[in-house]
Amino acid sequence: MNTPIWDERDWRPLPQLTGTVRADVCVVGLGGSGLAALEELAALGVTAIGVDAGEVGGGAAGRNGGFVLAGLAKFFNETVAEHGETAAAALYRMTAREIERWAEEMPAVVRITGSLRIAADAAELADCQKHLAALRYCGFTAEPYRGPEGEGLLLPTDGVMQPLERVRALAQRLRQREALLYENSPVRKIVPGVVVTDGGTVQCDSVIVAVDGRLDEILPELSGRIRTARLQMLATAPAPEVGFTRPVYYRHGYEYWQQLPNGSIALGGFRDHALQQEWTADAEPTEFIQGLLEQFLRERLKVTAPITHRWAASVGYTSDGLPILDEVQPKLWAVGGYNGTGNIVGALCARAAARLACGQRSPWADALELARTHRVKVH
Ligand SMILES: Cc1cc2nc3c(=O)[nH]c(=O)nc-3n(C[C@H](O)[C@H](O)[C@H](O)COP(=O)(O)OP(=O)(O)OC[C@H]3O[C@@H](n4cnc5c(N)ncnc54)[C@H](O)[C@@H]3O)c2cc1C
Repeated sequence: MNTPIWDERDWRPLPQLTGTVRADVCVVGLGGSGLAALEELAALGVTAIGVDAGEVGGGAAGRNGGFVLAGLAKFFNETVAEHGETAAAALYRMTAREIERWAEEMPAVVRITGSLRIAADAAELADCQKHLAALRYCGFTAEPYRGPEGEGLLLPTDGVMQPLERVRALAQRLRQREALLYENSPVRKIVPGVVVTDGGTVQCDSVIVAVDGRLDEILPELSGRIRTARLQMLATAPAPEVGFTRPVYYRHGYEYWQQLPNGSIALGGFRDHALQQEWTADAEPTEFIQGLLEQFLRERLKVTAPITHRWAASVGYTSDGLPILDEVQPKLWAVGGYNGTGNIVGALCARAAARLACGQRSPWADALELARTHRVKVH
């Protein structure tokens, strides 16, 4: 138990860091975000070293639902209401572009299928209409939807991916470009210019910590702004009895599922049914949430195929609903806190941190700052 359905192939472990190494930048965390930072740093011609406590994609990045969604975790109409139309539209546009880029870059791993937001009740259906109106007003594509899944919205530019395959492919690509990546090298201490792991030390000019859940364990100064939660999923053997052609987001996104190319169902959700227990850094599945997922799978989705996988992982939620992209100490950047939807947003935050660490501007960081300032002014 606690193995994601995505772990299909063997992975040749990367070395552990030993001794002292030097680079311009050290990236802590080899999930989708840390690897995106390393890609950006390579493009900027900067030397970088990446370290991870476990394996590449061993955190949420390789254990998630595989949805690639435009926008922040909050739906677009809520983002407009809280953070202003200019910032919301700029952020949405950049996430949609990132999805296109991913699908072009790795078409076998990332597919643009569109996604469905399905309402659980009349109040949510009314919110779907507001969501649709806000997207269309800002020039984004969305359609009302009614089908076997229920009623709501179709967002044609969203997609799905095999998340673990993608991060492993990114790591391999970086290694082919001679990037130094180390697994099983937990960071114990970060002081300006030095990152200390169990087996070795990185000397560097800047550090980027790209960790979503448990970020506050590495950087306790963020503990008032980010909280770690557990999210849980299960998956089945191929289920020819159902046919979901698009990933589905249900009940404000609390439940989410997709049918994989081989017919298996990957389903997650119900965190809010045990909210206190799920605010935890423990990443083991629980009987209670797994029971709810199983009931939903059988009764709502009508899937009869056997359950083959159950798993969980940690993510970070922020108090203002915006991701963290901060220089927490001079030359020490932190990114994380994607509020449950970090595949695309995490990569954009990490690439922005890489640019900022190199003294470059970042349109993503500018738009996030605009969103943050708007919220502070209004609330
Ligand atoms: C069940 C589940 C379903 C989800 N579904 C979706 C979805 O469908 N779509 C979506 O967009 N998002 C989804 N998310 C959220 C998304 O997975 C995360 O926001 C995203 O993957 C975060 O990636 P990351 O690289 O920032 O962080 P992580 O994947 O958390 O990677 C951080 C890495 O840092 C390493 N690390 C931690 N501490 C240390 C240390 N001290 N020293 C060295 N390394 C350290 C970890 O080992 C880990 O590999 C889901 C999350 C979960 C758990």
